[in-house]
Amino acid sequence: MKLIDSLVTQAAGIAAIRRELHAHPELCFQEVRTADLVAAKLTEWGIPIHRGLGTTGVVGILRNGTSDRAVGLRADMDALPVTELNTFAHASKTPGKMHACGHDGHTAMLLAAAQHLAQNRNFDGTVYLIFQPAEEGGGGAREMIKEGLFEQFPMDAVFGMHNWPGMKAGQFAVSPGPAMASSNEFSITVHGKGGHAALPHTGIDPIPVACELVQAFQTILTRNKKPTEGGLISVTMFHAGEASNVIPDTCELKGTVRTFSLEVLDLIEKRMRKIVEHVCAAHDAEGDFHFHRNYPPTINTAAEANFARGVMSGIVGADNVLVQEPAMTSEDFAFMLQAKPGAYAFIGNGDGSHRDAMHGGGPCMLHNASYDFNDDLIPLGATCWVELAEQFLAPQKAAE
Ligand SMILES: [Zn+2]
Ligand SMILES: [Zn+2]
Repeated sequence: MKLIDSLVTQAAGIAAIRRELHAHPELCFQEVRTADLVAAKLTEWGIPIHRGLGTTGVVGILRNGTSDRAVGLRADMDALPVTELNTFAHASKTPGKMHACGHDGHTAMLLAAAQHLAQNRNFDGTVYLIFQPAEEGGGGAREMIKEGLFEQFPMDAVFGMHNWPGMKAGQFAVSPGPAMASSNEFSITVHGKGGHAALPHTGIDPIPVACELVQAFQTILTRNKKPTEGGLISVTMFHAGEASNVIPDTCELKGTVRTFSLEVLDLIEKRMRKIVEHVCAAHDAEGDFHFHRNYPPTINTAAEANFARGVMSGIVGADNVLVQEPAMTSEDFAFMLQAKPGAYAFIGNGDGSHRDAMHGGGPCMLHNASYDFNDDLIPLGATCWVELAEQFLAPQKAAE
C-alpha cells in the first residue's frame, strides 16, 4: 500500500480530531460546533473558507498555479438520532445523538487531505473542500446546491466517499453507473365506512382493500418493471382499527420505494397511483395517495468512476479496488452527481477488530448503536483524496 508519508505521520493528530467529533455529535443542520472546528482547522492551515451554504456548510478553497480546472471533494458532517452503546472514552457525550454512520471519519479524512494539499500544493487549479451538513435525510447537499454551491465554486467534477463496514480495510469499491438507489416515501389512506364487525354488508371494510393494494404493488415489480432493472416497494406501516368487533373507517399504509433510475421511479409511482385509484373504486372505497421523492439515485459517471478506480489502484493495487455492487440505500451526494460529473466510492471499514472488544462481538453495520469509524483508514482515505486531487489537476504539459 502506497500511503503518503506525511499523512501517516499526521494521522494520530487527525484521529484525535475524529474522536473529538465522535464525542460531540450534531444532527442535521445543527452542525455548528463541527463546522466551527472544520473552519478553524482549515484557517489554521492557510485555506480560505466560505461558510453558511446549507446553514452550516463549509467550503475550503485551495488554489494553486494558473489552470482554471477545479475539483470538489465532499465529506458529510452530521450524526444520527441514536443513543450510543459504546463505552470507550470518545463515545458520544449526548444521549440520543451518535456518529453511527462514520461521518466523523469522513470529515477527518478530508481534513487530513486538506492539510497535506495546503502544505504541498502539488497541483495546478482549484480544490474545493466541501464539508456538508444534513446527509441523513435532510438533503444538505441539495440545500448547498440550491444556495449556489456550483455557481460560486464552479468545478469540473465532484467526488464523495463512504466508509463501508464488512469490507476489508485497505479496499475501495467504485464503478460506473448506479452506486445507490433513489429513496421515496408513500402514504395511502383507504377510506371505507365503519360499522359492526358482524354486519359487514352495511359498511365498506377498508382492510381487505388495503390488503389487495399491498399484494397488487408487488405485481408492478414483477409484471410492469423490466426484470433486469432494479427497484423495490416495501409497505412498512399498516394501521387500522381499534377493536375486534368494529370495522374501522380507514386504513393507513406507508412505505418506501427504491430505484436506480428515474424512469423506473416514474413507472412505479404512476402504477401505484392507478392501482390505488382503481382497486379502491372497485370496492366503493376511496384512496388518498401521496408520494414524496426524497433522494434521487446516486449515479457515477463512467469517466470519473474509472479515473477514481485508477487512482485507487495506484494506492492499494488493482485487486483491492472492487466492483461496486449497487446498494438499495440512498445518499444525498446523488444531488451533486445530478449537477456534475463525478463518483461516489466506498472505503472498507474492516471487520470491527479495530475496537478492543469488537462491536459487541463482531462487525456491525452503519447506523448500529455499537458502530465506530476505523481510525486506521484516515491515512488511506486522505491519501486517496490527495491523489485524486493531484492527478485530476495534474499540470498540463505545454504543447510542443
Ligand atoms: Zn447514514
Ligand atoms: Zn452515511
